[in-house]
Amino acid sequence: MKNIFEHTSASWVKYSDYEWRTTEDGKEYLLPTKDAMPKPYDPMKDADNLVLAAADIGLMLFHKDSEKAIKEAMRAFACKYGLLGIMTAMPTTAKFIEYEKVYFHKNQIIPAETMDTEEYIGLFFPFRKPDFRKKGLESVWNTNDRMMIALVMTYSIEPQAMVMSFMRDYGEQYAWLASVFRDWAFTLVTATLYYADKDRLDETTLDLYRKGMAAFEGNTPTYHLELREHPTMVWDFHSLFLFTSTLTDEKNPLKICRQCQRPFIAGKADAEFCSPSCREQHRKNKGKK
Ligand SMILES: [Zn+2]
Repeated sequence: MKNIFEHTSASWVKYSDYEWRTTEDGKEYLLPTKDAMPKPYDPMKDADNLVLAAADIGLMLFHKDSEKAIKEAMRAFACKYGLLGIMTAMPTTAKFIEYEKVYFHKNQIIPAETMDTEEYIGLFFPFRKPDFRKKGLESVWNTNDRMMIALVMTYSIEPQAMVMSFMRDYGEQYAWLASVFRDWAFTLVTATLYYADKDRLDETTLDLYRKGMAAFEGNTPTYHLELREHPTMVWDFHSLFLFTSTLTDEKNPLKICRQCQRPFIAGKADAEFCSPSCREQHRKNKGKK
């Protein structure tokens, strides 16, 4: 069979549409709609906007925006960038399918140290389980959906779990997504404050920041922050967090707008507002006081 995706250079998959669905026991999942089309793409090409969009959702959670608005933002994010690949990111190895059991990094999403492989995979297929069986180290996975077979062929050199996370029936829970996006915003806020105030803070306070970020790293295996010359987010490779992205570079740092509190990429290093309208609004508010 001709691989329908053979001419795409891509490292992640997004579908044309996603929806929220609730399981019988009340868990809410985000997953592709029944008729959505999968599309491989290269997240590196739009990395800045991806980071911004993710940080934006995290800050919505921080600010306790309405759940309806947050869900819609997550759905829009998935339509643009796909789901996050949480299934592959939580285990200690992306190749966990090759082992008898799954072992986890310490994390807030799966509160277990280890789990049966089939049971674990089942968590991510809430409405229709994949035809997947495991016996000792061996596993068998069948699919007869042509589109899914094409995806498997496209990503044949990648870990099997990553490819499974591109399947139409794969979904991610609201609570998991919220946890990842919230952590993300925490990193952004901490890093932004750290670098904004670096020259004014005393050594004790700076040390507190560093410790905060170190603790953060321990809890979130999918990415961690390194305090190089600029704070740099280092991402794991088999989730959507798959690239190294500089949170701030000298000329165009990622900042939080003083007026609307949303993240933006600053055109100038000393910019404080995301837009002329926010600058204007801030000036007006100040005038009132
Ligand atoms: Zn703004």
